Amino acid sequence: MVIPLTETRDKAQAAASPTATYIPAPSEFYRQAGPALDAFKRRINYLRISLTDRCNFRCFYCMPEHGAHFAPRDQLLTDEELLRVVRAAAAVGFEKIRLTGGEPSLRRNIVEIVREIAATPGIREISMTTNALRLAELAQPLKDAGLTRVNISIDSLNPDKFRMLTRGGDFGRVWAGIEAAQRVGFNPLKLNAVVVRGMNDDEVADLARLTVDEPWQFRFIEMMPLAGVGELAEQSVVPTTEIIARLEQVYGALEFVGWFGSDPARTYRIPGAQGTLGFISSITEPFCSTCNRMRLTADGKLHLCLLRDNELDLRDALRGGASDDDLAALMRQAVWLKPWGHGLPEGIKPTLRGMSELGG
Ligand code: SAM
Ligand code: SF4
Repeated sequence: MVIPLTETRDKAQAAASPTATYIPAPSEFYRQAGPALDAFKRRINYLRISLTDRCNFRCFYCMPEHGAHFAPRDQLLTDEELLRVVRAAAAVGFEKIRLTGGEPSLRRNIVEIVREIAATPGIREISMTTNALRLAELAQPLKDAGLTRVNISIDSLNPDKFRMLTRGGDFGRVWAGIEAAQRVGFNPLKLNAVVVRGMNDDEVADLARLTVDEPWQFRFIEMMPLAGVGELAEQSVVPTTEIIARLEQVYGALEFVGWFGSDPARTYRIPGAQGTLGFISSITEPFCSTCNRMRLTADGKLHLCLLRDNELDLRDALRGGASDDDLAALMRQAVWLKPWGHGLPEGIKPTLRGMSELGG
């Protein structure tokens, strides 16, 4: 079933929206020119692409230790299919691409994929979120191929705890990846930690200290209740206000720097620090009203809102003979159908997809 097009869809209607399905013959509405706007007049110009649902870590807040769901390989988009989607996205006004996963650096041909996306007319910025395990060797080739920035996940500075949190991750290799990212000039370098009560909440001051001498942004993320980790998230989310209070006990009052456009992170600074701190409060202070993003899953679905089920199947369209114009029209349709927000405060259950399938 498809949501009827109307300028007056409100939050409640959006909350009740069903999963969108592929329409073989999109209406003329979706073929109009101009930037892609959703039904709430948000301009959607940022596509996060999950290059693979596989990962070389098993972070306990993201994937189960055993039995994670992986799509069969023939269901994953090929490089050519992926690049067709990027061109269609650019044609309707998407300007920013982020490569994520699973672990995007595990994708075969990653450097070539970056090069092709960077060369796509209309794409201004291509970045990557990575666990950095392969970054020491890949940073320079990725930079040369046109990657503009990286965000690196690092939830602990204690190698033993890091291994436990990631279920096997090698802190030394990740740190070498961070150094390589800085050396080749991925600026500003952003580091991310999901803060989980009883696991790494006692480390927030140490993590934040990294910004004192380095011009990095360290971002603290509230844990979200995606598939496989829902119960853990309910018990373990540490609200941003609590993280800030812990930091202020150590560093004194943080300076508010700003909350810029569609950036989900509110930015602060330890007085006198070179870098900044970012706080992403998806649970306690959702930023849905300024959302500018959509996601492409590794198996070719446009996923319209992180925590919702609404998806539009581009893989079927690609493999069913859709032209470039058809793909662009589908992108525009997906944008229009984007729900208002994740709906957790209204009691909407999160999607059954895991974070590693959706790309965070
Ligand atoms: N493997 C890469 C990495 O870890 O950076 C990219 C994929 S990962 C799914 C993307 C982002 O999602 C990371 O910053 C990760 O910390 C975050 N993430 C994973 N599970 C999460 C959860 N339950 N709540 C909030 N963020 C989560
Ligand atoms: Fe892998 Fe990233 Fe998920 Fe960790 S957060 S398991 S590195 S996809």
